[in-house]
Amino acid sequence: MASSGNADFDLYRPSEEHDMLRDSVRSLAEAKIAPFAAEVDEEARFPQEALDSLVASDLHAVHVPESYGGAGADALATVIVIEEVARVCASSSLIPAVNKLGSLPVILSGSEELKKKYLGPLAKGDAMFSYCLSEPDAGSDAAGMKTKAVRDGDFYVLNGVKRWITNAGVSDYYTVMAVTDPEKRSKGISAFVVEKDDEGVSFGAPEKKLGIKGSPTREVYLDNVRIPADRMIGAEGTGFATAMKTLDHTRITIAAQALGIAQGALDYAKGYVQERKQFGKPIADFQGIQFMLADMAMKITAARALTYQAAAASERVDADLTFQGAAAKCFASDVAMEVTTDAVQLLGGYGYTRDYPVERMMRDAKITQIYEGTNQVQRVVMARNLP
Ligand SMILES: Cc1cc2nc3c(=O)[nH]c(=O)nc-3n(C[C@H](O)[C@H](O)[C@H](O)COP(=O)(O)OP(=O)(O)OC[C@H]3O[C@@H](n4cnc5c(N)ncnc54)[C@H](O)[C@@H]3O)c2cc1C
Repeated sequence: MASSGNADFDLYRPSEEHDMLRDSVRSLAEAKIAPFAAEVDEEARFPQEALDSLVASDLHAVHVPESYGGAGADALATVIVIEEVARVCASSSLIPAVNKLGSLPVILSGSEELKKKYLGPLAKGDAMFSYCLSEPDAGSDAAGMKTKAVRDGDFYVLNGVKRWITNAGVSDYYTVMAVTDPEKRSKGISAFVVEKDDEGVSFGAPEKKLGIKGSPTREVYLDNVRIPADRMIGAEGTGFATAMKTLDHTRITIAAQALGIAQGALDYAKGYVQERKQFGKPIADFQGIQFMLADMAMKITAARALTYQAAAASERVDADLTFQGAAAKCFASDVAMEVTTDAVQLLGGYGYTRDYPVERMMRDAKITQIYEGTNQVQRVVMARNLP
């Protein structure tokens, strides 16, 4: 697999290895994940088939470094895996994406002991990782969180509610951001690894969502959860900085998800317009249809260039990574919304039904404009970090 540490990382041209990875993920996604995508959405159930096939092919958490038993995929290879899975099933693409989101704080800032303990099971496919930043009253203003972690000898005791947690209940490990010093606002927040089986951890009912219905989203309740102090990720007070640094890298995975959803919708619509006849000929013969397809492909190509450029910036940890990650996520998710809406339009009345996949793709695309910071928040981030 395309691996980290390449000093000549060429951002615009994926290597031959990246192309081979794309081919193998596409084959797997079409054979093992696509057949269940409509059912997973309809029944709002976890895509277990996707998890099983991703684990069997070692594609569930490709970003984990080789030194901890992982595939050691670089940021672009990780993007390609997520993009190709999202092309057939957005819910399933949240398995590799959120495994990266949840574990990146440990990779970026955790002690060697934490890395060994938690990354090994993740790499093997024995455990999944979630990321707990948001709360009922702290979304865009994440630093306004209320969850507390109070030191008690060699332990911390956590109390609070985390909201909107992707894969909650399925994941074994949770990176939890909590206030350790309320006076210091964002500098008084620390990050911890909490385990599903820790006493006092419980989960709310799955949210009833518009899209990504196969990805469970639940509240996580922390009720006097007493964990060893060495489960803190990095030093006390650095949790918010770690959480934001994580998002700089992982917003690019949401861009990848958006890109995959958009590509899936374009591919489906392209085939449909050749088959559908009106006025005695395929609707693909009408220039009005051709121009729509051209615009869709143009936007996807631009989103892909921006996303791969941001992945290269993530791999190199460029100085402008914060801008690049926000720009890629914001642009690709806006493109996904436009392209999937146009795909529904191209299918006419049929596009508006659940007998065809494009309405699911349109519903799934919407979330990419909201999570890991809404697109308004991405614009705030970009404006503060103009190149
Ligand atoms: C399905 C799903 C999965 C999620 N998964 C996770 C997860 O795994 N972990 C996690 O921690 N969180 C997760 N989230 C939470 C997500 O990141 C938040 O929903 C998001 O950051 C927005 O927060 P909010 O919902 O509280 O909206 P609010 O912050 O209340 O925003 C409401 C509106 O106000 C706008 N707004 C707010 N502030 C500003 C401003 N300064 N300028 C302009 N506009 C502004 C927003 O853009 C939005 O349009 C998930 C959410 C969903 C829906």
